[in-house]
Amino acid sequence: MTGAYDYDLFTIGAGSGGVAGTRRAASYGARTAIAEEWRFGGTCVLRGCVPKKLLIYGTHFAHEMADARGYGWEVDGNLDWSKLVAAKNRETDRLEGIYRNLLSGAGVEAIAGRARIIGPNAVEIGGRRITSKYILIAAGGRPERPDIPGIEYSITSNEALDLQELPRRIVIVGGGFIAVEFAGIFRAAGASVTIVIRGEKILRGFDEDIRDHLTAELLKQGISINPGVSVTRIDRSAGRKRATLSDGREMDADTIMFATGRVPNTRDLGLESVGVHLDKSGGIAVDEWQKTTVAGIYAIGDVTNRINLTPVAIAEGRALAETLFNSNPTSMDHTDVPSAVFSQPPVGTVGLSELEAIRLYGVEGVDVYKATFRPMKHTISGRDERTMMKLIVESATGRVRGVHMVGADAPEIIQGVAIAVKAGLTKKAFDRTVAIHPTAAEEFVLMRDKLKR
Ligand code: NDP
Repeated sequence: MTGAYDYDLFTIGAGSGGVAGTRRAASYGARTAIAEEWRFGGTCVLRGCVPKKLLIYGTHFAHEMADARGYGWEVDGNLDWSKLVAAKNRETDRLEGIYRNLLSGAGVEAIAGRARIIGPNAVEIGGRRITSKYILIAAGGRPERPDIPGIEYSITSNEALDLQELPRRIVIVGGGFIAVEFAGIFRAAGASVTIVIRGEKILRGFDEDIRDHLTAELLKQGISINPGVSVTRIDRSAGRKRATLSDGREMDADTIMFATGRVPNTRDLGLESVGVHLDKSGGIAVDEWQKTTVAGIYAIGDVTNRINLTPVAIAEGRALAETLFNSNPTSMDHTDVPSAVFSQPPVGTVGLSELEAIRLYGVEGVDVYKATFRPMKHTISGRDERTMMKLIVESATGRVRGVHMVGADAPEIIQGVAIAVKAGLTKKAFDRTVAIHPTAAEEFVLMRDKLKR
């Protein structure tokens, strides 16, 4: 298949998307190589989803111990933060090894180093020129911080995952996925946590009820949320940091973390020299087949800056391998992608928010069902936590267009409900489904009364 080329597919970046796509290509007999300048596994395995979730499991025991006391257990305990971080690192090291084995088992050649594109079918890595019929850019993204005086005294999620000591006081700037997830981790571990957001509320783009409900739950845990302000400078003295805010306030902390978004890794890839264009968001512009503006060069995942989620990158990579190497043209369907925020309590969501649905179908064209309740577990645990569940229904067709939840197990529950939304099921189909009692999830098939607006 290679003809004059060294490889059929040369992938830049061994994150989840690049590895999945390249392995799938290799399974169809393609001669493949993957270049990685850092460690194998990418953001999700090494600096994102996996280590983050391990820290959430590790810190959530604080909530569980408190709940257990309500049930008669005499438990108490202190977290050894450095032990938790070391255990997390052992697991991510193990996963990196698995990634390497998966690649070699699939016959993919792994090449360490930074690759640069030097032609439509050529890359340069470590002084070597390599040719490939197709090039796949799966270089991911990185945290972005605003350019303010003293920004070098702050950290991002990269460093937050590896703090050797638990900060006593932390200021987190930003109100997106990463900010609220780390706020939950540090708060449960015992730190004092202050969130600073330039907007009015956390989690822009999510359903308003999710934003409001989660805000209320975070406040109950003692997390301070400061809306409508930015950090304008950071000063350091004697190991402490001081953030100055746009309204003149000053906040002292051991650690100041910026979770102000991520940007695609498009620098120094040689894109300009071959004519690969970026889109307005700074991501590599691709069509529905992941094709860039240059024939033979493709891009997937966070480097394209569309839906920056691991399972989306994986699906895009596999779709490309199907198209190029299995005579099975496949494009990724980016609609109704479910997602979760692993805050404490967590969020799960799929489909349209109420506002998005109203924009599409008009106020009269949307029915909303909502339940807010105290979960059974907390009647005895004594925890003051409420769950919120919401269905967005298109009135004309009866189809469930959006499902949202804040509460224990929301990501697990929404993964199942997302199948129904993707399949286009109606509210009637939800109503016909028998509940599993007693659960929280049963509320999704028991909602009878439309919300009056
Ligand atoms: P997000 O884009 O989700 O949020 C960025 C936050 O930073 C927003 O609150 C934004 O405010 C604020 N912000 C941006 N620029 C500035 C600035 N200059 N000054 C002050 N505040 C600023 O980014 P994250 O970093 O949280 O996460 C990046 C992406 O990674 C997510 O969008 C998601 O795709 C992915 N991710 C997914 C996770 C999951 O699936 N559970 C977990 C973690 C990350 P405003 O709202 O005003 O714009």
